[in-house]
Amino acid sequence: MLRNQFAGLLGLVVLQGAFAKIDQSDFAPADIIERDVAVVGGGAAGSHAAVRIREYYRRSVVIIEKEGNLGGHVNTYQDPKTGNIQDYGVAMYFPYQDALDFFTWMNVNISLTFPANQDNPKIYADFSTGQQLVNFTEIERSQGLEAIAKFVNLTIEKGYDQMVQPGYTNLPPGKDIPEDLLLPLGEFVKKYDIETMLPFIYSSTGSGVGSRGYFTKLLTLTFLKAFPPGWARAYLGEIPIYAVDGGNQVLYNEIATLMRRDVLFNSTVIESSRAAGKIELVAQSSDGTKKLILAKKLLIAVPPTRENLAPFDLDEAERVHFSKTKYGRSHTALISHSKLPEANLVNTPESASQSPITPFLQTPFVIGFTYVKAFGDAKVFQISAAGDNYTAFDVPAAQAAVQDALEKLAEKGTIPDLEGEKVKIVSWDDNGPGGFGVSAEDLRAGWMEDMYKMQGKRGTWYTGNGLGADFTVMLWKFNDGLLGGLIRA
Ligand SMILES: Cc1cc2nc3c(=O)[nH]c(=O)nc-3n(C[C@H](O)[C@H](O)[C@H](O)COP(=O)(O)OP(=O)(O)OC[C@H]3O[C@@H](n4cnc5c(N)ncnc54)[C@H](O)[C@@H]3O)c2cc1C
Repeated sequence: MLRNQFAGLLGLVVLQGAFAKIDQSDFAPADIIERDVAVVGGGAAGSHAAVRIREYYRRSVVIIEKEGNLGGHVNTYQDPKTGNIQDYGVAMYFPYQDALDFFTWMNVNISLTFPANQDNPKIYADFSTGQQLVNFTEIERSQGLEAIAKFVNLTIEKGYDQMVQPGYTNLPPGKDIPEDLLLPLGEFVKKYDIETMLPFIYSSTGSGVGSRGYFTKLLTLTFLKAFPPGWARAYLGEIPIYAVDGGNQVLYNEIATLMRRDVLFNSTVIESSRAAGKIELVAQSSDGTKKLILAKKLLIAVPPTRENLAPFDLDEAERVHFSKTKYGRSHTALISHSKLPEANLVNTPESASQSPITPFLQTPFVIGFTYVKAFGDAKVFQISAAGDNYTAFDVPAAQAAVQDALEKLAEKGTIPDLEGEKVKIVSWDDNGPGGFGVSAEDLRAGWMEDMYKMQGKRGTWYTGNGLGADFTVMLWKFNDGLLGGLIRA
C-alpha cells in the first residue's frame, strides 16, 4: 500500500517535471536577459562564434560558460613566484584558409613556434609495472614521416580531405561514405602500407584519440578529426606553426574583455524550452543565482554529449540521435615532484619491445611525464591521462593514476625512491570528452546527415569539436560556414 502511494507520488512528480514550463514571473526584470543568439560554451568555437555574431553580423549575443574564463582547452599557467608562463593545453595554430586572420582582427600577436621538449632524454617504461624497457627501439622518424606524407597525398587524391575538414558538410550521405573512412584505423594503414606512421601519430595526438578503447580500432573518420590532412602538413613541417605571444590564453582574455557584458561565467543551463524563434534558457551560476535568457536562436558550442545535452529539452528523435555518441575523457596537467628526472618518461607497454609500431596503452593510462622546466626550486612536468569511461575517469581517478604510476616507477627503480613525497598538482585541467565519434553502423545509417539536418531545428544550431576537425583554426572556418545560415534563418 505504502509502495503504491509512493509510486503514485513519484509518477506525479515525473509528470509535473515533464510539463514544467519556465515561468518568467519567477525572475526579477534584472535577471532576464534578451538577446538574438544565446551561445552555450565559450571555448574555441563558442567564443569565436559569439564575436562574429556580435561584431560582424551585428546581432546581440550572450555566452553561457561553465568556467571562470573563456578558451576551453587552452590552459596557460603563470607561476605566481617566477612569473614563468607555460601553455599545457592548446599549444599552437597553423594556417588553414584565412583562419589566422582572426588573431589580426582581435589585435593579438602570434609568432612562429616549434614543438617543445623534444630534445629531452627519453626513458621508456611500462607504467603498469614501473619497469624500464631496455630492449625498445623507436621506429626511425624518417620512416614515420614518409608514411605520413603518403597518408596526406592519398587523402587529397581521394578527396577525403574535403570530406572531413573543416567539418563534415561535404561528407557523402551515410550509404555513400567511402569504405576507407569507415575502416578501423589499423586496417586503413595496413591497406595503404603506412603503418609506420602509427607510433608518431599516437604520441603527437597525446594519445587523445586513443582515449576510448584501442587506438587502431578507432574509425578512420574519427581518427581524421584528431589528425586531419591540414594538421599533418604542419606536422611534416610543410607549413609553419604559431603560438600567441604571452601564452595562448591571451586571445581568450581579449575576447572576454571585448564581450564582457555578454558573458555569464561559471554558469550552466539547467532548464530550457526550445522552439524556432523562441528559446528560453535558465542559466544557473556556481553561487546559485539564476538568470532567464530569452533568445531567438541557440548555438550549442559544447560537445554534444549526453551529459551536456541533458538540460536542453531534447525531443525523442534528438534523444535517440545523441544517445549514439561515444567518447572517453582526458586530462592535462602540470605537476611537480623532486624525484622525477629531467627527462621525458614515456609510458610504453612491454609488448612494444617486440612490436614498436604499436606501442599502444590500455585505458586508463597516464601518457608520460614530460620535463618542462624549473619554476624556481620546483621541477615541473606536463602530463596527460586518458580513460574510456567518461563517468569513471574523473579528476580524482586521473590524479590517483598519476600517483600510482610514480609509485610503480619508483618501486622498480626506474626513478629514485619517492621517500613518501606525493605528487604536487601545479595546475590541472579536465579536458572532458575525448575521441568523440559514433559507430560505423550509425554513420552508414546516416548519423552525420541527421546531425547536419538538425542545424536550425527548434531554433538550435551546433558547432565545436563534435562536428568538425578537432583543431581551433578548422573550427573557426567551420563557424564561418555555419553562421551566415544561422543569421539568415
Ligand atoms: C590537451 C589538448 C591540446 C590541444 N592542442 C591543440 C593545439 O595545439 N592546437 C589546436 O588547434 N587544437 C588543439 N586541441 C584541440 C582544441 O582544443 C579543440 O579543437 C577545441 O578546443 C575545441 O573547441 P570547442 O569550442 O569545440 O570545445 P572546447 O574548447 O572544449 O570548449 C567548450 C567550452 O564549453 C564549456 N562547457 C563545457 N560544458 C559546458 C556546459 N554544460 N555549459 C556551459 N559551458 C560548458 C567549457 O568550459 C569550454 O569552455 C587540443 C586539445 C586538447 C584536449
